[in-house]
Amino acid sequence: MQLKTLFNFVEKHKDFVYERFELDRDASRPTLRVHIRHAKRSKGLCSGCGEPGPTHDTLAVRTWETVPLWGIVVLYLYAMRRIRCGRCDAVVVEKVPWASGKRRITDSFAWFLAAWAKRMSWREVARSFHVSWDTVYSAVRMAVAYGLDHRRLDDVETIGVDEVMWKRSKRGFLTVVYALDAGRRRLLWCSPGRKQETLDAFFDWFGERTSQLKAVASDMWQAYLNVIRDRAPNALNVLDRFHIVKNVQKAVDEVRTGEARALEAAGKNLLKHKRWLLLKRPENLTEKQTIALDELVKINLNTVRAYLLKEDLQQLWTYVSVVQGCRFLVDWCRRAKASGLKPMARVARTIDKHSGLILNWFFTGGALSSGAVEGFNNKLKVITRRAYGFRTYDVTSTALYHAMGELPTPQLRHSYQ
Ligand SMILES: [Zn+2]
Repeated sequence: MQLKTLFNFVEKHKDFVYERFELDRDASRPTLRVHIRHAKRSKGLCSGCGEPGPTHDTLAVRTWETVPLWGIVVLYLYAMRRIRCGRCDAVVVEKVPWASGKRRITDSFAWFLAAWAKRMSWREVARSFHVSWDTVYSAVRMAVAYGLDHRRLDDVETIGVDEVMWKRSKRGFLTVVYALDAGRRRLLWCSPGRKQETLDAFFDWFGERTSQLKAVASDMWQAYLNVIRDRAPNALNVLDRFHIVKNVQKAVDEVRTGEARALEAAGKNLLKHKRWLLLKRPENLTEKQTIALDELVKINLNTVRAYLLKEDLQQLWTYVSVVQGCRFLVDWCRRAKASGLKPMARVARTIDKHSGLILNWFFTGGALSSGAVEGFNNKLKVITRRAYGFRTYDVTSTALYHAMGELPTPQLRHSYQ
């Protein structure tokens, strides 16, 4: 079999011919040069409008790196024509089917790199395939631009609004919106900031589709609550379990830190290294941790009481009827306020204030799984943490859309994955 057959099998370009192959064994990495020419009598297409036009002149040979073959670098070489385009009324460089814009790699190679960039860090992709970090970034940017252009948004009924820190500074917040419908969960939108205007911009963009939203999950951030109330009045605003429990966990931690300090002053260190015991769900503890927790529970520490209150709250989401749920929540708030533990009383007051929105969960018919919000939040944190090194918002948002947007990709003649 000839190389030509192989290349035509993988990628055949209309009006272009793989003419000649040249293997450079002496290069620092073995390199296959693939010389391409246009078919005889074919006309070049305008890179602006796509119309064919007569050749004006031919430029010097250019190279594009494409997907490596058995670890051999593969370069396409082609002398581009400049054509006279009647429609654009100008002399323009022709369009070639294997690459777009000024990129020095082929579209196939860009899609190949972008696909790997979902599985490894961009730096690892760059190192593995001997390209620069910028090349990987431009490949991912291409994939994201294509995906955002071609995605469907008409199937979104449940969304979640969340905030995440992406820079180590007070102003380093991002507002993110995901679709939470089962089987179609994905990142929809993100923007720097977490003010009312920030979320308003989402609804401006989402437009008419807002009217088909059934539920909007969010945390207790007042700016978000205001916007959701005004802009999505027909959707149920639900304060989701993940964010509620997170707030209560913070209160437990505050009680623990305060008590640990007091105990330390008294020469006891019962609470040292116990933070994780109190944060984990009991079913996730190891046997050794369970014993340690049992021992802690025997001593009637404030921390333990706070912890038990937190665990107890989880029951709310096991009720089926809103009446029972409501009764439970009222009772929980009363007990937390009466506990004498300031942080717990404070969080109970907040929960009390928002109990209507919390109880809205009972009206979503199970469409809103707390696991979904938590899963997204964790994944977001991993990516934004990795993105601390990225510095700019553009790079961060590109990384987020790429990893979490479930964006469509084109049907290539040959899939490299
Ligand atoms: Zn044109």
